[in-house]
Amino acid sequence: MTDRTCWLTGCLGAPAVQWSRRPSEAELANIVAAEQVRRDEIIAAADPEQPAPQFDPLPTAADIHVAVHACSEHPISMDLATLTHAATCTTPLLGKLPSCGCTPENAAPPTPPPATVTLPTGWVIASPEEPAP
Ligand SMILES: [Zn+2]
Ligand SMILES: [Zn+2]
Repeated sequence: MTDRTCWLTGCLGAPAVQWSRRPSEAELANIVAAEQVRRDEIIAAADPEQPAPQFDPLPTAADIHVAVHACSEHPISMDLATLTHAATCTTPLLGKLPSCGCTPENAAPPTPPPATVTLPTGWVIASPEEPAP
C-alpha cells in the first residue's frame, strides 16, 4: 500500500519518523473499493441458511489515516507529527520544514484536569486499594 520512503520524492533516506494525514480522493476511492470487494466476497461466501452478514457503513475520509514517512533530514516538528494532516499535505513544503503546508486537524482536546472539590470536614476520598465495606 503505502511505500515506506521519505515523503520527499527522490530522497533515499531511510524513514525515521512518521505521522498521518487524511487520504486523497483517489486513495479513499481505492480503500472503499477494496472494502466493498471484501464485503462482496463475504456475502458470496455466506451461508444462505444463516442471517445475512451485517457491515458497518463504508469508511469515509474521517475514518482513515494514511502514514507519511520522513527520513531524519526531512521531518516535520514532533508537535505537528502528533496531529492528523490534510489530504493535501502529502508533501510538506521543504522551505517550511519543520512546519508543513497544511493546517492539521486538532488533536484530541486535552483532557481537562480533574475537577477539585472541597469536601466537608470529616469526609475523605477512599483510596482505590481499600475494598468497599
Ligand atoms: Zn528525506
Ligand atoms: Zn500538514
